[in-house]
Amino acid sequence: MDPEPPHVLIFPLPLQGPINSMLKLAELLCLSGDLHVTFLVTDHIRGRLLHHTNIQTYFSRYPGFDLASISDGLPENHPRLGDQLTEMFDALEAVTKPLFREMLVSGEMGSGSRRPPVTCVIADGILGFTIDVAKEIGIPVICLRTISPCFLWIIFCLPKLIEAGEIPFKDNDLDAPIKSVPGMEDFLRRRDLPSFCRSGNLTDRIFKRYLMESKQVSRADGLILNSFEDLEGPLLSHIRTLCPNLYTIGPLHAHLKSRLAIQNLPSSFSSTSFRKEDRSCLEWLDQQPYKSVIYVSFGSLATMTGDQLMEFWHGLVNSGERFLWVIRPDSVVGKNWESYISEELREGSKGRAYIVGWAPQEEVLSHKSVAAFFTHCGWNSILESIYEGVPMICWPYFVDQQVNSRFVGEVWKLGLDMKDTCDRFVIEKMVRDLMEERRDEFERSADHMANLARQSVSEDGVSRRNLDRLIEDVRSLSL
Ligand code: UDP
Repeated sequence: MDPEPPHVLIFPLPLQGPINSMLKLAELLCLSGDLHVTFLVTDHIRGRLLHHTNIQTYFSRYPGFDLASISDGLPENHPRLGDQLTEMFDALEAVTKPLFREMLVSGEMGSGSRRPPVTCVIADGILGFTIDVAKEIGIPVICLRTISPCFLWIIFCLPKLIEAGEIPFKDNDLDAPIKSVPGMEDFLRRRDLPSFCRSGNLTDRIFKRYLMESKQVSRADGLILNSFEDLEGPLLSHIRTLCPNLYTIGPLHAHLKSRLAIQNLPSSFSSTSFRKEDRSCLEWLDQQPYKSVIYVSFGSLATMTGDQLMEFWHGLVNSGERFLWVIRPDSVVGKNWESYISEELREGSKGRAYIVGWAPQEEVLSHKSVAAFFTHCGWNSILESIYEGVPMICWPYFVDQQVNSRFVGEVWKLGLDMKDTCDRFVIEKMVRDLMEERRDEFERSADHMANLARQSVSEDGVSRRNLDRLIEDVRSLSL
């Protein structure tokens, strides 16, 4: 009897950043030719993908691709944002887990099409229940972490930090050094640890979830990271001590772009945003001078107060630089941003400011008019910026962003870290430093890192070789 064809079920965390990178992985696997790939999302995300993205084109382009969905256990109008994200994690565990088990046991994906049995699950490592279920049923499972490896390594070291008495913090000095994370002894401070470490409560649900993670991820048959060896080599060696079967295949968006180009297929640039993109900003960028604009965006989840919004506005305007700012309709807590930044204020910026609700970010970062990126340091945003050689100013919000911004500022020297302040004078000064005073220095290191990122996904690059190894391993799992 012929063996079943390999069938990978990809299960991302139902948030924009993880969906972006895992959909890119799905496409890379489809491009290998012989793999069946089912992309499993929550019902809520399915609706948004079908409405806003060009995911429909995947069905015609890749006969092995399918989209399936499952309930996330939340009412449709739940915000799935900010502090309420914990409720989403709880519901995924309570409601989605049994449905996921049922799906794998029955082989019924609910998409209507006949599919071979699943031979491998690739799930976001934070969805620990997927490992339990796949192991219980006897299906190999590989984890993908869409957060940064530097954050993952800190998560793996949480038990050490507790044992050494470094967390919970004994006082309010956020500049105190942290010494129990091997490889980061020289530059890590309390303020660079994951935001949940500040709560001081080790029984906090978020804290416990991450504490469990190192145990869960090392039970998987492999770990995929959206990063590249030249960016984080020393840290990756530490992670390999716990997860020896490591596949570093990033930056995923760049990897996909290069694979599509080799196969003469059109790029799927920005096809994965599940918010409506305002492409008018590209026309505005076309009219601006070469490398004159600072792009400002804090991703899909970060929120700010009205006061913080105004500090940003005045800091950016007072810097005298041009800026393109993404302010989502739900970016500001409580009120609409337009009730703070009036039409009159906007006129006062003399055409140097352009605001949109959502931008085609990859295209914006690759635009010739963009010189710098004011970012919340989400991992996708950082990789996208690195790949385009764009220096950054960092205003981290939560989870991995606090340590990512430390790496941007102190380790990779790709920009400035503004964490824990939101003051118009600081903002103005940082923008001037990045755009004028220290511009050459940051551009040099950004160019260097961009070259390394490009090499990693080139024909003989390390990320390319690791992806080939992953595909081979996935194939062999079905034999
Ligand atoms: N993004 C976008 N348009 C925007 C803002 C963000 O397309 O206006 C994309 C961005 O390119 C990135 C993702 O949304 O791929 C955000 O992921 P990230 O990990 O940076 O942050 P998160 O949203 O998860 O906090």
